[in-house]
Amino acid sequence: MIQLSTGDMLREARTSGTAMGKIVADVMDRGDLVTDEIVIGLIEEKLSATRGGGFIFDGFPRTLAQADALGELLEKVDQTLDCVVEMQVDDDALVARITARSTCGNCGEGYNDLVKPIPADGKCTNCGASDFQRRADDNEESLKQRLMEYYKKTSPLIGYYYAKGVLRSVNGLAEIDDVADSISKVLA
Ligand code: AMP
Repeated sequence: MIQLSTGDMLREARTSGTAMGKIVADVMDRGDLVTDEIVIGLIEEKLSATRGGGFIFDGFPRTLAQADALGELLEKVDQTLDCVVEMQVDDDALVARITARSTCGNCGEGYNDLVKPIPADGKCTNCGASDFQRRADDNEESLKQRLMEYYKKTSPLIGYYYAKGVLRSVNGLAEIDDVADSISKVLA
């Protein structure tokens, strides 16, 4: 399946300095949601450019308007939404994890100060590069706003997809391998 992450697409637009990237930069750094119009446009572009196979939507939809739009877009390409995975994590654990994470700027390998720290020699275990990056919005202030946006605009999607019979919940506080297993079971 192809992973479609709206966050990744928006960060890419920022890095490549497109007009849209410039518009969304401040919004993202503050921890606010980007407009529905922009993210629905991004997903629409990707769906129409890709034929066959399945998709994993990551960080999308995040509002009821996006969820309705996704339903319509999938219908157009003759696809259905098989399941929605809710990963349940309490806020304190989420903040602790997110403020500790970083990635290799060269290969994208993920690190976390708590469970997988950057090696003592300062080199990525995967590619040997020593350029580690943290997301500009992975700080406590932006995170507070991101959580607020989640409660106000995204959490209603739990009820929306429950009512459609596609919601599956997994315990996101378990060990990494156990979370992966739970997701595999849900998708099987
Ligand atoms: P993420 O990488 O999913 O944590 O997203 C990072 C940021 O990108 C979010 O805090 C929003 O500012 C923006 N973003 C990503 N996906 C969406 C979406 N579906 N709707 C609105 N904003 C989004």
